[in-house]
Amino acid sequence: MKLLEGKTAIITGGSRGIGRGMALEFAAEGASVILFDRTESEAVCQTVADVRALGVRCEHYLCDVSDSASVTAAAEAAVRDFGRIDILVNNAGVTRDGLLLSMTEADFDAVMNVNLKGTFLVTKALIRHFVRNRYGRIVNISSVVGLSGNPGQANYVASKAGIIGLTKTVAKEYAARGVTCNAIAPGFIETDMTAALPAAAREAILGSVPAARPGTVSDIAGAAAYLASDRAAYITGEVLRVDGGLGM
Ligand code: NDP
Repeated sequence: MKLLEGKTAIITGGSRGIGRGMALEFAAEGASVILFDRTESEAVCQTVADVRALGVRCEHYLCDVSDSASVTAAAEAAVRDFGRIDILVNNAGVTRDGLLLSMTEADFDAVMNVNLKGTFLVTKALIRHFVRNRYGRIVNISSVVGLSGNPGQANYVASKAGIIGLTKTVAKEYAARGVTCNAIAPGFIETDMTAALPAAAREAILGSVPAARPGTVSDIAGAAAYLASDRAAYITGEVLRVDGGLGM
C-alpha cells in the first residue's frame, strides 16, 4: 500500500516550487490533493493537471492565506466537496528582504501576514474538522533561518521562528485528539524564491552546506510525505531540518 493511500491533503501555495513538489509527491503516494492558491494562474492549473495525471483527485480553491474570509470560504468548500481532510501543509510563503535599517513596516507586515498569520488562519479553519475526526496531520514549512537568524531577513526569520512556536503550541493542544503538528525547516532549496538571490549570496550559502549541493523540492516533499503519514503518528511538535547539514 502507498504511504498516503486513501488520505486527502490540503497544500497551500501549490502553484510552484516546494508546494508543487509536495502535491506531486503526495499524489504519487496515493493521496487526493487540494491546492489553496491565491490566483487562477497557468502554473496552478498546470499543477492540478499534473497531479490528476497521476490518477488521483485534485482540485484548486482560490485562497489568499493572509485573508481570513478567503481562508474560511476555501476551507468550507474543500470540506464540503471532499468530505474528509486528513492532512494540511502550510507552505505558502513570501520574502521581502532588506536590512532592518531600511525595512519598511509594510514589508514586515506583508511577510508576517502570509507566512505566520496565514499558517494560523488555515490551521484554525481546519482544526475543528481534525479534532472531530480524531485525526489530523499538520506540516508547517518553516526555514532553517527561523532557527538561526539571517541578516537581511528580519521579517522572514521572525515569521519562520513564529511558525515554530505555533507548531509546538498546536502540537501540545491537540496531541490527545489524534492530531500531530510538525515543522520542516528547509535549507537552501532550488526554487523561484532562491533564484531571486544575488549570485554572491547564493555561492556563500552553498559553500556552507556540508552536503555540497542545493536541496531539491523532492528532498522536502519526501520528508513532508513521511510526517503526513501514519508512520509518523508518534511524532509531534518536532522541527525537522532538511538542509544537507546547513543548520548543524
Ligand atoms: P515559491 O516562491 O517558489 O512559491 C511560493 C508559493 O506560495 C507560490 O505557490 C505562491 O503562489 C504561494 N503564495 C504566496 N503568497 C500566497 C498567499 N497569500 N496565499 C496563497 N499562496 C501564496 O517558494 P518556495 O517553493 O521556495 O517556498 C515554499 C515554502 O518553503 C515557503 O514557505 C518558503 O518560505 C519555504 N522555504 C523555502 C526555502 C527555499 O530555499 N526555497 C528555504 C526555506 C523555506 P503564487 O504562484 O500565486 O505566487
